[in-house]
Amino acid sequence: MAKVMAVNAGSSSLKFKLYEMPEEKVICSGNAERIGHEDAIFGIKYNGENDKKVLPILDHARAVELLVEALIEKGIIKSMDEIIALGHRIVQGGKYFSHSELFNKDTEDKIESLIPLAPLHNKAHLVGFRAFKKILPNVTSVAVFDTAFHQSMEEQDYVFPIPYEYTVKYDCRRYGAHGTSHQYLAEKGAKYLPGIKHPRIISCHIGSGASITAIKDGKCVATSMGLTPLGGIMMGTRTGDLDPSVMNYLCKCTGKSVEEMYQIFNKQSGLLGVSEVSNDSRDIAAACEAKNPKALLADKLFIRRVCDYIGQYFVRLGGADLIIFSAGIGENSPEFRQKVIDEIAPALGVEIDRELNKGLRGKEALLSTPNSKIKVALIPTDEEVMLARDAYKAYLEEHK
Ligand code: ADP
Repeated sequence: MAKVMAVNAGSSSLKFKLYEMPEEKVICSGNAERIGHEDAIFGIKYNGENDKKVLPILDHARAVELLVEALIEKGIIKSMDEIIALGHRIVQGGKYFSHSELFNKDTEDKIESLIPLAPLHNKAHLVGFRAFKKILPNVTSVAVFDTAFHQSMEEQDYVFPIPYEYTVKYDCRRYGAHGTSHQYLAEKGAKYLPGIKHPRIISCHIGSGASITAIKDGKCVATSMGLTPLGGIMMGTRTGDLDPSVMNYLCKCTGKSVEEMYQIFNKQSGLLGVSEVSNDSRDIAAACEAKNPKALLADKLFIRRVCDYIGQYFVRLGGADLIIFSAGIGENSPEFRQKVIDEIAPALGVEIDRELNKGLRGKEALLSTPNSKIKVALIPTDEEVMLARDAYKAYLEEHK
């Protein structure tokens, strides 16, 4: 039996999910949080039980040791040899990676060289990878990039209208993010489009971080996030696209530095910034019920930004066959989905079954009515299974 682990290492966290492959059955999952602290937390979910303990975890290597100990102690594995491959999530693959790649010196060096583009993420991913390498030195390890799916964009879709010299010299361009999720959604969504020769999908990954991608023939042609995940639609705490002069003007007005304002654009803007209530869409919904005017504005602005991108991508794709809603808000908020559909309906002739949509949370379903000019589906995303798939594929390649 082949066991493969999906790994997502953050600066102070390490999430994991162990799969039985090729069945893609989840065996267990869990995470270490607050790594670097005396009172860190290690949690593992197995057989319907959720064990959590507070203990010192001073670095990622210790977190991996704890994980291995827990797997053996619970009888999930007898020895580490049973884990044949690891799929590591890597946020930024830059221009180098258009698909997943085996971890070797070159892969590591490239991920390292991309740290300036994703300072918190890529650094942490490498720490996570090295911690696993120390304990599982010979296991097949694969880097799965959030940006890889978007590498199929044409130049005019990823180049920013800045002096071209900067594009080339600093690799300053659109890379997008959530690529693993959009790819998963495109693959899943294909089943709703039998017989369509060149399927056109608008995939809406709307969570705390949110992005929209235009997909033609299974390939990304345009995506909303930019150089970093700050670009595109408005999000929980991120601005999304702005007139760049906002940065200059606000720095002058407030006396804050560019770095400080950049943090504000990332962490204190979006739904949180406009509503002054919360970054969580559930809190915004509750505040809207209470007729809080700033929450109402945040909600309208959010919907508007999403619809603007759907409209843009409808044109970019020359029409659309399927709109997919996914991630925290897309999967769990019927109100959000209905508002988006109501706003785009007059232009795009799209219609969903109101009653079906109303009760639906986190479950795959076709929401559109037979009259709708574009199909609409709710598809829960699953980025981890993509990590496991690519890791398993690489293992099979290596052991052919
Ligand atoms: P990320 O992966 O970017 O952290 P998620 O995809 O987990 O984000 O989405 C988090 C968002 O999903 C939050 O804004 C939260 O409000 C929203 N969300 C989660 N559950 C629900 C729900 N039942 N109803 C409405 N929104 C929800």
